[in-house]
Amino acid sequence: MKDIINILPENVANQIAAGEVVQRPASVVKELLENSIDAKATEIKVLVKDAGKTIIQIIDNGIGMSKRDASICFDRHTTSKISNAKDLFNIRTKGFRGEALASIAAISHVNLISKQHGIELATEIAVHGSEVKSIKSTVSDAGTKISVKNIFFNIPARRNFLKSNNVEFRHVVNEFIRVSLAHPEIKFIFYNDDDEIYNLPISNFKKRIVSLFGSKTSEKLVPVSENTEILKIDGFIFKPKYSKKTRGEQFFFVNNRFVKSSYLNHAINSAFEGLIDPKYNPSYFINLEVDPSSIDINIHPTKTEIKFEDEHSIYAILRASVKHSLGQYSITPVLDFNRDKSLDIPYDFEKKSKSASVGIDINTNYNPFEKSEVIQKFVSIESFNKKMESLEFSSETNEMKEFNFDQLDPISNANNSIQINKKFIVNKIKSGLIIINQERAHQRILYEKFLKSVTLNKINSQKLLHPIEIEFSKVDMQILSSKKDILNQFGLDFDLKKDKIIINAIPSFIDSVNLTESFNKLIFNVQNDVPDESFSESDFIAKIISKSLSIKNGKSLKLNEQQYIINSLFACKETMICPFNKRTFVKIDFSQIENMF
Ligand code: ADP
Ligand code: MG
Repeated sequence: MKDIINILPENVANQIAAGEVVQRPASVVKELLENSIDAKATEIKVLVKDAGKTIIQIIDNGIGMSKRDASICFDRHTTSKISNAKDLFNIRTKGFRGEALASIAAISHVNLISKQHGIELATEIAVHGSEVKSIKSTVSDAGTKISVKNIFFNIPARRNFLKSNNVEFRHVVNEFIRVSLAHPEIKFIFYNDDDEIYNLPISNFKKRIVSLFGSKTSEKLVPVSENTEILKIDGFIFKPKYSKKTRGEQFFFVNNRFVKSSYLNHAINSAFEGLIDPKYNPSYFINLEVDPSSIDINIHPTKTEIKFEDEHSIYAILRASVKHSLGQYSITPVLDFNRDKSLDIPYDFEKKSKSASVGIDINTNYNPFEKSEVIQKFVSIESFNKKMESLEFSSETNEMKEFNFDQLDPISNANNSIQINKKFIVNKIKSGLIIINQERAHQRILYEKFLKSVTLNKINSQKLLHPIEIEFSKVDMQILSSKKDILNQFGLDFDLKKDKIIINAIPSFIDSVNLTESFNKLIFNVQNDVPDESFSESDFIAKIISKSLSIKNGKSLKLNEQQYIINSLFACKETMICPFNKRTFVKIDFSQIENMF
């Protein structure tokens, strides 16, 4: 028999391993930042170009590497952080697997310059796709400077799978935020294409949160703090009224490592239960400190998921202490922890001082169903009818190819629709029934309206009596600044200040109520490239705006609102599909119904 098993060459093994560690430029940023932190740096600079696709450079003032260490750090399983299996159970560093640099070097062009303190010369080493190109001595400051260029240059399939710069940049920023939040004791500076995005001085956790998320954040925060034998908690939650529909700021750090945990997220959600509309998400920044031997961080190569030895207790303590904070700050109606036996807390809350409440205004008569929807007024018939007068769709657009508007029973039209499941509008037509998805239909309506007004350069913009100011983070401000011109063309007229925008005018058919939420959605959608493919920037923005502002499924519609949707949909050029190519309605003929019996 012929032997058929090969031992893979080192560079191939590295490329395979890289697949797990390096998914995108952001993974490189994360790994390199973690290395600098493990090297005890007190100042770290990050520079990226083209969202990290062209270059990622990290400069630290950490302990640096000797010539020998620099020459082997790109080999697989080389680490200074553990030396035997026993160490795996007491990890206090970010890294320990010894595979990040090997993985990164396998799929990019890396240049590393590193010098230990008190040593005269630095070592410079260049590695292209696992192959060492040169090692030499050079002059440099103490610490480490590493540049990673042309990520995935040798794996075109993966390079092609990278998303747009907007999306990749968002991932990079997210990683940067996670790491820099976990280490307020380190100064971080972040440049994107030569623009300084963040300059974070050495500070404390609260100040770091504020430097990252804007000065208004400070007043939103409520501290959470608990100290038990198995777990120490410190951090902040946002007051319930600042909860967001999009999952915004949700951060858990375990021993200064950002982790994802739907289980712990659930603990926090349940502490907020009854205080916020279930569709909203609480924001939180929570540090958990546990004995390193009681967790396993080795369950995923990116180390963002961990296993706790005693997760039930951790859940209970976290939930209780968040509830406690909400109670302490008079955010919840009185909570009596001693009576809350269900929590089964392995420590004594009684010793905690229930210190004076500081008045935080919160609606104790909170009714989640009264929450003002982005679209609430928008959908009201007044704004619809009045604002839609400017629509002026030409009559030719009423001549549908696939579906004839005339088929709508003209007399009973206004009485025949019903809304079912807060999602579908059912209307009788001559030959049967149509069932319309309200959200998709409205997206189509808005999309055509926006595109039409932009194409005709005829925007019905409405000046606001009182300009509206909205604060945004630096990254969000960058996005708004890059899209300002095109948003102007869409009738959104705003000025950019340092950390806020001032909105002067908005398209006449959108409502100024909850503009903040609409802008947040807009930024989220831009960052996530929500319309995956678009013909042009106008098309992209029209899609994004229509997605951000449309009536959502789940919203009850009055009869006249249903009629508005039906009429406007069938006045569109394309009626069958929403801007995202999903079906807007289905038609069921009487013959089909007959066949069912
Ligand atoms: P790990 O972090 O899991 O040990 P890496 O491949 O990320 O593995 O790094 C390998 C080794 O290279 C580290 O253990 C460390 O000794 C050294 N190293 C990497 N980056 C730096 C840095 N910025 N400063 C000093 N040493 C570093
Ligand atoms: Mg590492």
